[in-house]
Amino acid sequence: PRQFFVGGNFKLNPATRVAKQNLINILNKADIDSNVEVVIAPPAIYLIPVLEAVRKDIKVSAQNSYIKKSGAFTGEISPAQLVDAGIPYVILGHSERRTLFHETSDLVAEKTRVALDEGLSVILCVGETLAEREANKTAQVVQDQLKPVVALLKPEDWKKVVIAYEPVWAIGTGKVATSAQAQEAHADIRAYLKQAVTPEVAESTRIIYGGSVTAANSKELATQPDVDGFLVGGASLKPEFVDIINSTR
Ligand code: 13P
Repeated sequence: PRQFFVGGNFKLNPATRVAKQNLINILNKADIDSNVEVVIAPPAIYLIPVLEAVRKDIKVSAQNSYIKKSGAFTGEISPAQLVDAGIPYVILGHSERRTLFHETSDLVAEKTRVALDEGLSVILCVGETLAEREANKTAQVVQDQLKPVVALLKPEDWKKVVIAYEPVWAIGTGKVATSAQAQEAHADIRAYLKQAVTPEVAESTRIIYGGSVTAANSKELATQPDVDGFLVGGASLKPEFVDIINSTR
């Protein structure tokens, strides 16, 4: 059985430390299902204060990391620095990184390799655009995104990887995938892992869904056999994040 996983990707939010602390206070007081792995990913500037302020059963993740330990790479953060700061997770390959910051699947794969080598766990994001879905290319696009990662990882590395399937057309649009669409994409990813890595890795790797997840749709999505949790954007900044965490209750 795969442990249900709910991540909160705060993106470039909130805008102030006061608002950030309010969010943490809500989580600290909440009744959270102890069977769920909960990870929140605040902006880099808040990583250490959030780690210090949040309850210990909630883990903290960075939203990005670089491929080098240190050096002349202005604006970047290294996996080694995250580990040194006590941060256990990093989100890599988010569609906003791929699109707005021109990250290729090869770079995402290299970042994943380096992050794992430093001891981080990785939330690896993949997903197709609307045009790609309408052209029936979803499975192919997602495989192409995973392929360079598969090439750089050994089967045991996958213990520290969670795959987030986030269709680009569902991110921040209010257009959530239907549970059938999510299930099909997740099952395709699992089938690909079975063929390209090992059946054991396919069976044990968490595949979570992201894209307009709310408390109103999370329960139904969570009933799907290959949906092992969520990566939540907008709703992770609201009290309903707690209900999403508890969707399997
Ligand atoms: P929304 O939940 O705001 O659609 O964002 C999803 C996402 O990108 C999480 O990484």
